[in-house]
Amino acid sequence: MSEEEKNTIETIGEFGLIERLTSDITLLQPGTVKGIGDDAAILNHEGEMTVVTSDLLLEGIHFDLTYTPLKHLGYKSVVVNLSDIFAMNAQPRQEIVSFGISSKMSLKAIDELYAGIKLACREYGVDIAGGDTCASLTGLTISITALGTGSSKDIVYRSGARPGDWIAVTGNLGAAYMGLMLLLRENRLFQQDQGYQPSLDGYGYLVGRQLKPEACRQLRQVLTEGGIHPTSMIDLSDGLSSDLIHLCEASGTGCLIEADKLPIHEETARLSEEMYMSPLVAVLNGGEDYELLFTIGDGQQETLSRVPGISLIGRMVPAEEGYELLLSDGSTTSLEAGGWNAFTKPDQHRDR
Ligand SMILES: [Mg+2]
Repeated sequence: MSEEEKNTIETIGEFGLIERLTSDITLLQPGTVKGIGDDAAILNHEGEMTVVTSDLLLEGIHFDLTYTPLKHLGYKSVVVNLSDIFAMNAQPRQEIVSFGISSKMSLKAIDELYAGIKLACREYGVDIAGGDTCASLTGLTISITALGTGSSKDIVYRSGARPGDWIAVTGNLGAAYMGLMLLLRENRLFQQDQGYQPSLDGYGYLVGRQLKPEACRQLRQVLTEGGIHPTSMIDLSDGLSSDLIHLCEASGTGCLIEADKLPIHEETARLSEEMYMSPLVAVLNGGEDYELLFTIGDGQQETLSRVPGISLIGRMVPAEEGYELLLSDGSTTSLEAGGWNAFTKPDQHRDR
């Protein structure tokens, strides 16, 4: 172990750590009047609405350091948080980043984690405007709060959908879940036989979607250019079925979606087959897609169908018609909220 790997926070102290992690941060947002370096940050959002969301990530509950590289973990922590700001059709501006750091963690490991956080913030053009650090007795804890802005006419809530609205989704679904299935399988085989060489060959896209997801930042601009204003929106963190039911509950509607219209990546389909499971399980229940699920009023579907990377997957219906999935053979089945639930299955991260 090198000298640097042996160094922990105690060697440089909390203030030394903060200095080490944050000294190269340059502010990108004009609204960040005062960032790190005083008792509190000062933000000026110039009359726009402020949109705030927070995530708490715990080692052993939301992430497993045996197969999650720290830089990826840092990156993902920011991205999943920003995804909630995009889901309000708002623009992220600042992040507040806090840690509880295990005494076993080396400075080098903390550097890597923070490098991932800084990289994501740079890529999405948001400022790290503050935070806190503290030693932890129980493993790594990450707390991230994003602040965004939007005008009151642009912000989209979960509650605005009406029967007859079209349901749309960005990107493809189920890939992050299948990436997790692959990592878990390879990790299990490695635990059984330390000589085993884990192989992720042929599934680079799936692993990337699990370890280094991206938030859907383009949609806002695409919709503005097309003159489309969504009636409701949510980001897909828990899985399509759960998140769609959240939208329906908030809007007081039911839904009917079509299995044949659900966007599935080739690698998702291939690995599902290899694992003898239906890709629909990954698509409906998998979660961690961080795509955006939204609805638009009847009449706008023609315009939207011409936008690449967006799929129309069904319609909102009156609440009494329930939540239904139309299968390829023409039969329908009831959609269940089969996604992850933070209090019953603490095996991986989903935000709410
Ligand atoms: Mg969300």
